[in-house]
Amino acid sequence: MTTIQLQNLRKEFDDVVAVDGIDLTIEDGEFLVIVGPSGCGKSTTLRLLAGLEQATAGRIGMDDRDVTSTEPKNRNVAMVFQNYALYPHMTGRRNITFGMKSAGAFTDDEIDQRVEEAAKTLDIADLLDRKPEAMSGGERQRIALGRAIVRDPDAFLMDEPLSNLDAKLRIQMRAELTRLHAELETTTVYVTHDQTEAMTLGERVVVMNDGRLMQVDSPQVLYDFPENRFVAEFIGDPAMNMIDVTVEDGTAIHDGFEIPLPGAGTDAGTPGTDPIPERSGDRHDAVLGVRPEDFYLAQESPDLGDATFTATVDVTEPLGDSLLVHCSVGDAVFKIQAEPRTELQSGDEITVASDPERLHLFDPE
Ligand code: ADP
Repeated sequence: MTTIQLQNLRKEFDDVVAVDGIDLTIEDGEFLVIVGPSGCGKSTTLRLLAGLEQATAGRIGMDDRDVTSTEPKNRNVAMVFQNYALYPHMTGRRNITFGMKSAGAFTDDEIDQRVEEAAKTLDIADLLDRKPEAMSGGERQRIALGRAIVRDPDAFLMDEPLSNLDAKLRIQMRAELTRLHAELETTTVYVTHDQTEAMTLGERVVVMNDGRLMQVDSPQVLYDFPENRFVAEFIGDPAMNMIDVTVEDGTAIHDGFEIPLPGAGTDAGTPGTDPIPERSGDRHDAVLGVRPEDFYLAQESPDLGDATFTATVDVTEPLGDSLLVHCSVGDAVFKIQAEPRTELQSGDEITVASDPERLHLFDPE
């Protein structure tokens, strides 16, 4: 049972500000994922939580304890690393029990019992007598997870634990981590640069950039209501289209098309704010954000009305479950995710529709 609070947390390395004043509460039993590009401060945040780095300023609380300056071994958190950090000369069992034995807080019987339980949970009984060199990457990571579980920590801190696994195994282990979390309900903070991993694993996802929190929300709210352009472009694959427009009288205008925006105060029926922020009625420049699946070929969606425009197909990419159509209008280029097997050729003219409730507007850079 552990809640973790970060208050105005800051970490500088010489002149690099790695973590720039983070405020965040991680709820008891929550699976929270921190995602962001390389160098944005994810690992440093996790290492601060583990006590492997000392904060330059701010506070870390675990339940009612201030642990900002507490030694790592007294924080009762278990870290899982990308490179597994196993001892090569020890068997799986020794790797799992080593930390418990050296802590001296457990009897031999307790240790045996916990290893048995972890082996059952992770299906690793047949790995216990093998050394890491005789294990696959996935098996090594299971042993590393076993080592974390047996300590029954207040929190798991996971730093890109699946990054060294091949794509198929990564997807399998993702599902396994979700199952493990449902079973153990231990507060978990998980760091990754992979937005798909973040979206599939996180109950809440923190998007970080340049040492700061850009948005903290459930995966679906992040996807549907990105609060800023960074989140809008980082979350989602294929990425959201961004088109420079002029907004006037409730319409986004670009050379070659006009797209009506929903009226101010329109309720899109989801938590958060309306995707289109209220602005003065004056003409102003903006960036229109539209996900590829929120543009439609007009013949596929007649119910979206007559607010259509004409675009030219540049290239098509069959993705199997959809057809990604790269197209252009004047100097604006964008992608449409259309039904699979749609017959289109380069140079075709298409009529494009969009759902006003699924449009986003951002300030120009
Ligand atoms: P991420 O995990 O998101 O890739 P990091 O937390 O590892 O990012 O790094 C954030 C920033 O802090 C980067 O600019 C990185 O170079 C810098 N940094 C991290 N650790 C150190 C260190 N020990 N010494 C100096 N700079 C560091």
